[in-house]
Amino acid sequence: MVGAGIVGASCAHELASRGLRVRVLEARSAPGEGSTGRSFASVRAQWGDALNIELSWRSIQMYRDFERLHGTSVDYRPTGYMFLAPEALWETQLARVELQRGHGVPVEILDTATAQQKTPFDAADLAGATWGSADGVVDPLAAIQVYLRLARADGADVRLRHPISAIAREQDHWVVETAAGTFTSSWIVNAAGGWAGEVAGFAGLDLPVNHVRRCIYSTRPQQGRKPLPMTVDLGTGAFLRSEGERVLFSVANLDEPLGYDTSVDWGWFETVLTTMCERFPWLADEPLDRGGAWAGTYEVTPDHFPVLGANPSAPTWVDACGFSGHGVMQAPMVGVLVAEEVVDGRAHSLDIDQLRVERFTDTGGAHVQMVF
Ligand SMILES: Cc1cc2nc3c(=O)[nH]c(=O)nc-3n(C[C@H](O)[C@H](O)[C@H](O)COP(=O)(O)OP(=O)(O)OC[C@H]3O[C@@H](n4cnc5c(N)ncnc54)[C@H](O)[C@@H]3O)c2cc1C
Repeated sequence: MVGAGIVGASCAHELASRGLRVRVLEARSAPGEGSTGRSFASVRAQWGDALNIELSWRSIQMYRDFERLHGTSVDYRPTGYMFLAPEALWETQLARVELQRGHGVPVEILDTATAQQKTPFDAADLAGATWGSADGVVDPLAAIQVYLRLARADGADVRLRHPISAIAREQDHWVVETAAGTFTSSWIVNAAGGWAGEVAGFAGLDLPVNHVRRCIYSTRPQQGRKPLPMTVDLGTGAFLRSEGERVLFSVANLDEPLGYDTSVDWGWFETVLTTMCERFPWLADEPLDRGGAWAGTYEVTPDHFPVLGANPSAPTWVDACGFSGHGVMQAPMVGVLVAEEVVDGRAHSLDIDQLRVERFTDTGGAHVQMVF
């Protein structure tokens, strides 16, 4: 297993629980120091395609049931997730709700007056809102710790400070070189997040996964603040939610260049605030807490959907990476699917063919149109 982010930790747990000897090699001195530790921690089953609905909805239910199944909570809080839809997107949004309900997801259609009671906003040009009552937040670092503890209890060997620098295929096994020693393995699961392309490159494999920076800004804490659910303005991409007494908010910079950068972009902040205040004018009166802002990187692929499954040119190499900002909400189910791919020869709880790496090659795979 390469990487001890939330995806690697979930895979390690699921593989070890099926009796495999698992070794996790993590470059950093603690788990979760990649994208996972810098996430917004939101989970939602409100998606526009069946596969993503299933990946997220099943994962949310696994987070919900964590305490009952494993005796430890991962702080799943169903604080809700609201999409505000302008007239132009309303029909599409209603069709998505039908699809989501068909998969058993609890989602409601709200008029703007009802939606405004959850989060205040300017309703001009909005047709309505949709509300996922089981969507919310989890604690991603808690989830990693629990997954790794469970994996260790099943015999997994978790090595921190083991950055992989070379991978070679010899006869029927892989030889993995790290700064702290050389290891052999029959399988490799590449859960290296935004570094997954680099890691695949060590083995001569082509994998289009890159980092792209995303910034989150914060107001100062305000005593007695009413909790605000995750609220996304579909027209502009502006989003916010409260965390304790703060409001966290942002708008993605779609022109952000690829590359690893975790410095907060204050040059972008003015655009963020202007865009946010169009929909949430009250934010203009909120004092900013510069120290509460942070940045991390999404692990992006060309179509913003993950790469999942065995590599056709190296069948004992399984990718689980490139979640493009959705890894926390899908990690539990990804662990299950990766374990099936390794142990049973093919993932079968869900058909993951749309997510296989072949979609980026000229020779095979379905180039499926996926929608957010
Ligand atoms: C600002 C922000 C907000 C986000 N909000 C959300 C959200 O609300 N909901 C959601 O679901 N997702 C969100 N995400 C995305 C989510 O954080 C990621 O999709 C998820 O954490 C990916 O997990 P991962 O395990 O694949 O990658 P990572 O957490 O990056 O883990 C990869 C690990 O691989 C290790 N590694 C890399 N190279 C090597 C090597 N050569 N040798 C050994 N180890 C190596 C790294 O050190 C790292 O620990 C957000 C991300 C950011 C940055």
